Amino acid sequence: MNIPFKSAGFAFILFTLFTGIHAQTNYSYWQQHVDYKMEVFLNVENYQYTGTQNLVYTNNSPDDLRRVYFHMYFNAFQPGSEMDIRLQNIPDPDGRMFVDGKSRIAGLKPDEIGYLRASSLTQDGEKVSFNMEGTVLEVVLAKPIPSGGKSTFNMKFEGQVPIQIRRSGRNNSEGVALSMSQWYPKLAEYDFEGWHTDPYIGREFHGVWGDFDVKLTLDKKYVVGASGYLQNPQEIGHGYESPGSKVKKPAGKTLTWHFKAPMVHDFMWAADPEYIHDSLKMENGPTLHFFYKNKPELLENWKNLQPKTAEAMTFFNENIGTYPYEQYSVIQGGDGGMEYAMSTLITGDRKFESLVGVMIHELAHSWFQHVLATNELKHPWMDEGFTQFISSLCMNEVMNQQQENPFESTYNSYFSLVQSGKEQPQTTHADRYNLNAAYGISAYNKGSIFLSQLGYIIGQDKLMETLRRYFDDFKFKHPVPNDIKRTAENVSGIDLDWYLIDWTETTNTIDYGIKEVQAEDAKTKITLERIGLMPMPVDILVVYADGTRETFYSPLRMMRGQKDNPYPNIERTVLPDWPWAYPTLEYVIDKPLSSVQAVVIDPSQLMADINLENNIWQPSE
Ligand SMILES: [Zn+2]
Repeated sequence: MNIPFKSAGFAFILFTLFTGIHAQTNYSYWQQHVDYKMEVFLNVENYQYTGTQNLVYTNNSPDDLRRVYFHMYFNAFQPGSEMDIRLQNIPDPDGRMFVDGKSRIAGLKPDEIGYLRASSLTQDGEKVSFNMEGTVLEVVLAKPIPSGGKSTFNMKFEGQVPIQIRRSGRNNSEGVALSMSQWYPKLAEYDFEGWHTDPYIGREFHGVWGDFDVKLTLDKKYVVGASGYLQNPQEIGHGYESPGSKVKKPAGKTLTWHFKAPMVHDFMWAADPEYIHDSLKMENGPTLHFFYKNKPELLENWKNLQPKTAEAMTFFNENIGTYPYEQYSVIQGGDGGMEYAMSTLITGDRKFESLVGVMIHELAHSWFQHVLATNELKHPWMDEGFTQFISSLCMNEVMNQQQENPFESTYNSYFSLVQSGKEQPQTTHADRYNLNAAYGISAYNKGSIFLSQLGYIIGQDKLMETLRRYFDDFKFKHPVPNDIKRTAENVSGIDLDWYLIDWTETTNTIDYGIKEVQAEDAKTKITLERIGLMPMPVDILVVYADGTRETFYSPLRMMRGQKDNPYPNIERTVLPDWPWAYPTLEYVIDKPLSSVQAVVIDPSQLMADINLENNIWQPSE
């Protein structure tokens, strides 16, 4: 938008303001740091809990902070909350939250709702004022935290675990007593884009990196699985103790479970009196923990799941980078599958293939969401999409599926979204898609295709090298879309700005076609056309009557580079670059038309061409 300046004086003021802002925002990467110490007592009879939180906040930003914000997610589970109202207005509400035409949140009674309230809060010993707005606690600081400074917050809080509606809660559909995610006052992230104080409407992940020290006290009959490392296994037992050693449980009705989780941005726990706890120490790897209800119908699948989890961990270690923690816990709970720090909550009563599938997906999030902590609300395709991409490959290997194209269903979902006309660009905020289905396909499927199709553009080896370098360069940070693009550019030597823009910021589609195949003297002229707006390089396979094959490759001019021959056993001719604005590309092959049996655009089918019919030419009978 152009703002016409009315006077030179006004323009001058604006100019100096802007240069001031520019000077301030011209900084290199930084991130905030938190150290949480929490002590929590939970009453398993009424599902209420009280806690204290000691939080040391380090302000590594270049700015002095005058306010801070905490997420108080459990307040979403109250009639009239934004989550409830959104549920009642979105055309395709989540079936787990919306039953018989009604929001399950709207019907919660006072002893069934969730809540999380601060009863007192100090900053470095001084009282501060705070105000609850929905799921966000707004805090006006007693004194600013200067750039490079620290403050210690002490909060007393009280909460009630809601009936399980979504992700967390009590008594889920499989009878797990406590699924405790999004349960504590969680400091909102402040990064180079400013504060991220998103209300809890549907999606939630973006947190501050730091260390957690958590003491949970509850009825000693309960078994707890959690994000961190248990500090007092000899008091706890339940299979946490070292083999053959004696457990000394303290007297009394309750037990205190002490966990530490270093360098994470969230802390989850779950508890049930009927949990079986198994563990598996991987050779040169972390210890895997499994928590599941002691029910005969679960036993076989949950035992067989354990070596598969180790195989999946090895697959991700080799293909992305080494898992940086010493344990991972697969815990029955929640309402499907959800990833957390060093752990996951999954529903457990599933067919084996589905159980392995959900474990693989959530475990993959340890890389794409946890360690590579993109803002899930702004860039859900980097979190869900990259997870789906690597999970499709992992599932194919671990379950020995032998699918020639493990991404086929992923592409088909994306094509169906395009056909529906309901697609929104991937830059849409995760909560503000028109439809849950449009969010889902865009984040998971179109996000997965971002990578598989990148493999088509830069080559498969370069794609996998890109993932490993991306992990090395951005682990324990908050990478943004430009980071994966720059990594792929550095690895491949191919410019990819056009790809990031068209694929993620627009709903432009890809459609290349074979327009004509004609005789030209004793040779054959092939005319290709670009029908869709989105640019792509083009691989062409030509099959001859004698069974021989050759390929042709037309890089996009904007790439300023080219990929290696993806089919080294077939001779490839590199054609001149195709400048995007030109609707057609012609080239002549040195064989008569009568010898040409087929011309195929992109035999890999990794280019998401929305019309595959015009990608194949064969002589008419
Ligand atoms: Zn996921």
